[in-house]
Parts: sequence; C-alpha cells; structure tokens
Amino acid sequence: MKKNTVLKFIFCLLLLIACNENKDNLHTDINSEWFDIDDIGHKTYSLEEPKSDQHNVSYLLLGDSKAIVFDTGSGENKAINGFKIKPIIDELTKLPVTLLMSHFHFDHNQNIHEFSNIGFPDLSFLKNNVSSNDIYTFTSEDLFYGNYPSEVKVNKWLPINTDIDLGNRIIQLVNIPGHTDESIAIIDKTNKMAFLGDYLYNGTLFLFNNNDITLYKKSIKHLVSILDSDYKLFGAHGSPKIEYNKLSKLNNFLICIENNECQYIAEKLWGEDVFIYKYEGMEILIFQ
Ligand SMILES: [Zn+2]
Repeated sequence: MKKNTVLKFIFCLLLLIACNENKDNLHTDINSEWFDIDDIGHKTYSLEEPKSDQHNVSYLLLGDSKAIVFDTGSGENKAINGFKIKPIIDELTKLPVTLLMSHFHFDHNQNIHEFSNIGFPDLSFLKNNVSSNDIYTFTSEDLFYGNYPSEVKVNKWLPINTDIDLGNRIIQLVNIPGHTDESIAIIDKTNKMAFLGDYLYNGTLFLFNNNDITLYKKSIKHLVSILDSDYKLFGAHGSPKIEYNKLSKLNNFLICIENNECQYIAEKLWGEDVFIYKYEGMEILIFQ
C-alpha cells in the first residue's frame, strides 16, 4: 500500500462514523450507483455516499426561485464508475444553482469543477486572498490532504448573518470557526433546519489545534443564540440527522477537555501527535 493510501485509510477509520442509524427520510426514485439521495423534507435533499470511506453527505436546498448545493462530495466515485454529482442535481432541479462549500477540506470539494456558479461566504480573510479576477488558490492547509482543487473562480460573495431569500425560503450563512476558520453553517430560518458541515456530525470530530477549543465553544454559543430545539441539525458525514442535544453535549465535552477533566489517549497520526478524547458517546481528536 502506498503511504498516501495508508494515511487515508487511517483517516477513514478514525472517523468511526455511525452509519446504521434509522432513517426517516423518503428515498427518491433517482438511481445512482454512488449517491444515496433522500428527500429530507421542505424541498431539501441529502446526497449520501455510503460507499465512500468517510460516508460524506452533501445537500441540495431548493427555494421557489434559487437552489443551493452544500458541498460536492468525496470524489471517490470517479474511480469507481465516473458518475458525477451535477447530473443528479440537474435531475432534482431546474432552478439556478449556487454551490457553497461547508469548508475547504478535500473531502467536501471534489467534483467542484462540475459547477459553474460558486459562492463563497463574504469573509474578509477570504476576500483578501483572491486574485484581481476573483480566483481563490487553495493552500495545502485548506485542503488538508491532496492538491485538488488547486484553485477556483469565485462567482459571488454571499453575505454572513444576513437573510438570503431562495424564494419563500430564508436562509442565513453563519461563520462557525473551530474545525476550520472558514467553516460555515447554513441556517434555514423558514423550515428550521441547520446544516453544520464538519463542525458537528455523527462521528469523530477533528480539531487541528488546542486553541480551536476556544473557537469551537464560541461558535456553539453563537449557534445556540440563533437556533432553538425545534431545529433539525444535519452534518456532513455519517447518518445525516444529528440530535439537537448534541450541541450542548459538545459544549460540555469541550469544557471537560479544557479543564483537564477528560482524559486523552496519545496516538501518532501521519507522524504527528494527536490526543483522542471520549465523552458520553462522542469522540474528539486534536492534533498537538
Ligand atoms: Zn473537514
């Protein structure tokens, strides 16, 4: 096995994703050998990749006049059958589609070049990093693994903490740093749905620095100030739907780590030291 393959395998094992939870979604009649497409209500679809090593989940949100695709998948489908994500989106909607990434890690933006309209959250540190013709070049830290995509044309900048109307469907983008600085959540205020990317999902959460704990906690505070327990939460790996109380459990978990009350297991991952913590069925891995 090549080194990269070994590293990827370990990464996938560590996700320890809960893939077998009961689902209450309606399966669509769209056939794909790779994606498992479910209608999760309120004109929203989850596009799961059950055969992906990391069980990625992307989402399609439809308003009456516009659509948002949130993430583009792991890209592992290319090696298997060449099936892409965009033809599925085209089957699900004829509305103009804007692609948004939950964050820039490699496993959320493969297939990105199938999309012609790419939106970035209007964050100053991203805007300051595009070329004069709005090309954003991904760093290796952005991608975490590999070198695709190398760059992308930003077609529009979407405002943060501001109502965006998709046509009788109001969403907001919220910056939730912690997993990465540019991480965003989509908050659907009309239907009380929140899409949290890699910030929170059913599986091991990854932090890349001990300082991220403070950022993570700040983001929970921010999220809780916007959401309430009627909201349905969705993550970007594993079984899509997340229990609402997992937000407060995560907060308690982070406090437990911060106060040195949670014990860690020290491991090596990709030659780097990592601490792995467990708390009430949750797991967090922190690079040291
Ligand atoms: Zn990630």
